[in-house]
Amino acid sequence: MLTYEQALEQLLAAAVPVNTIETVGLSEARGRILAEAQISTIAVPPLDNSAMDGYAVRCADVTTTGVSLPIEQRIPAGKVGHALLPGTAARIFTGAPIPAGADAVVIQEHCILDDQGRVVINQVPTPSNHIRRAGEDIAPGAEVLPAGAQLGAAELGVAASVGLAQLPVRRRMRVALLSTGDELAEPGEPLPSGAIYNSNRPTLHALLEGLGCVVTDLGRIPDNLAATRQALQTTAPDHDLILSTGGVSVGEEDHVKAAVEAEGELALWKIGIKPGKPLAFGKIGIGSTAFIGLPGNPVSGFVTFMMLVRPYILRCMGAQRCQPVEHQLVSASDWVRPDIRREFLRARITADGRAELHPNQGSGVLTSCVWADGLIDNPPRKSFQAGDTVRFLSFADLL
Ligand code: AMP
Ligand code: MG
Repeated sequence: MLTYEQALEQLLAAAVPVNTIETVGLSEARGRILAEAQISTIAVPPLDNSAMDGYAVRCADVTTTGVSLPIEQRIPAGKVGHALLPGTAARIFTGAPIPAGADAVVIQEHCILDDQGRVVINQVPTPSNHIRRAGEDIAPGAEVLPAGAQLGAAELGVAASVGLAQLPVRRRMRVALLSTGDELAEPGEPLPSGAIYNSNRPTLHALLEGLGCVVTDLGRIPDNLAATRQALQTTAPDHDLILSTGGVSVGEEDHVKAAVEAEGELALWKIGIKPGKPLAFGKIGIGSTAFIGLPGNPVSGFVTFMMLVRPYILRCMGAQRCQPVEHQLVSASDWVRPDIRREFLRARITADGRAELHPNQGSGVLTSCVWADGLIDNPPRKSFQAGDTVRFLSFADLL
């Protein structure tokens, strides 16, 4: 039996990078992986500017409260004023450039206007008060985004802030998805006796799309060798990865292993994790189409996807980060009968920030994944009690 780390290491080592680069506009770039580091040619902000609405002054002119100064100019955002004459103030607004000679902004709440239209300053400023310095966010020449960054809301905003309209990203991964199991019916169809609805299909489809993959959904493949081989043969040429669920055990009704062996090569791994012990990894055909076979149990498929397939796909896409951050949380529950395998337990975060276990940790209980906010990553044979610290992986980082 492999440990989780060994299985992950082997998967990541086998990941074939998707090297084709596309240039996309910012509005199409969300979720994509940046192919090349981006360097700023400008300073952000470009000029010293006011952080508040108020009055730009020279501190030397305002050494006591109650000083009054004539308002010599008005500088809204987007306009550049002129040098501040000694003994005067400039009306200034948030984001407007600080005029030469001014060294502080007094916020308008600390100022009043007198009868002659002069500003009376009721707080003594210190140099740099309420001034945002040129380049304090980004200096010219600075690397703003590293190669491999996953482009989320903040990354796209930073790219825009230095004037980039387009970004080089890796091509999306093409993934074929197939579900095995003669017991499966599709939602919308009647449910014959003995059948269950195919829940893995939409779950995995959504997980793959969440990673930015282009998914070819092959639907349900009958539990026989010929049909499974056929599906692998026809999809391999146009895809980077074929992902299947079910049929990876070694029962008489499990044909995935034999089909992959006939069409390529396969390693069937028993991984010491719960849920999700069996995982198949291989290659199809002479090309480099990877194959991953997930267990059929819905929670096993969900968890093995997040813990193994997700990092594999991110590595293929050239992502800088393949693994989620790990949080240390206090448990709200007792866990008294740990498994000999490393467990990924469904847990939610209570109002006071502790991790509470779902009462049914069965690998078929998919509602536990809706209820939960993430997984407690529990070492083999480790029991814990309410109050103990546990490792928590948030779905927010995984989905
Ligand atoms: P298998 O890995 O094919 O032995 O399946 C293990 C368990 O997961 C069985 O109870 C299957 O009925 C169930 N299962 C397999 N595939 C799916 C699926 N696509 N959706 C829901 N349950 C499934
Ligand atoms: Mg099956």
